[in-house]
Amino acid sequence: MPEGDTIRALAGRLSPRLTGATVTLLTGTHRAVSGEGLRVKGRRIVAVRSAGKHLLVEFDNGWTLRTHLGMTGSWRVYRPGQRWREDPARARVVLETPGVVAVCFSAPTIQFGPHDRIAAAIDHLGPDLADPPAIVDGVVIADIVSRARRSNAATASDLVLDQSTMAGVGNAVSAECLFLERVSPHVPASSLDDDTIRRLARRANRLLAANARPGVRTTTGHRTRGHRHWVYGRKGRPCRRCRSTILAAPTGSSDRIAYWCPSCQPSREEA
Ligand SMILES: [Zn+2]
Repeated sequence: MPEGDTIRALAGRLSPRLTGATVTLLTGTHRAVSGEGLRVKGRRIVAVRSAGKHLLVEFDNGWTLRTHLGMTGSWRVYRPGQRWREDPARARVVLETPGVVAVCFSAPTIQFGPHDRIAAAIDHLGPDLADPPAIVDGVVIADIVSRARRSNAATASDLVLDQSTMAGVGNAVSAECLFLERVSPHVPASSLDDDTIRRLARRANRLLAANARPGVRTTTGHRTRGHRHWVYGRKGRPCRRCRSTILAAPTGSSDRIAYWCPSCQPSREEA
């Protein structure tokens, strides 16, 4: 599933090709754009940016297109007339300019409307941890601690994944950040002290910011397949630090699978 780093990299790839260009067509199979898309025909694209896991395309008439790729969505960029590799029936958004055809396939969440309406839909998001650490350190970290105190998250894993506390974190970065900070995904979120929350936020921020570029995500520094993560996706494999067997199970209120090392990240029951 794309996380905030992937969406930031996507915005970085789309922005130079779309920003400033005039829209020749906005359509798609999604009802948000199939009719309303005409509103931006002939208008200019003024920005393409990410907000957490959301991609925003802003137009000069004050309208914005918001997509969230969920587990299944993707954006592809083609030249006009180029044959698509994906099934056109899954093209939920087609955005054309004179030089580019940008297509969003299979995204579960698509919204197209006046900027205020889009802003309201993402108003709950916490600080975007794909931002550079120099921006996130300080005031933003203090905001994250106070948001964490208001969060309904049950476990440490839920807290790191709570988009209203730390926007952009998904399952992989959550697992890696909890491992690197030696926090069990299962401990109650309410048991985490301020310093631990700050450490988790800084770590998630460094992981997302470092991976907000094209190419595969790595949290270990290694790019070879099978060596990119500490615990994520490594159920039954030996911990890279202590050789204990990595465990995986659903945790907290979500049905997401957490990955952890029971020795490096003991919860009270396991300690
Ligand atoms: Zn370990």
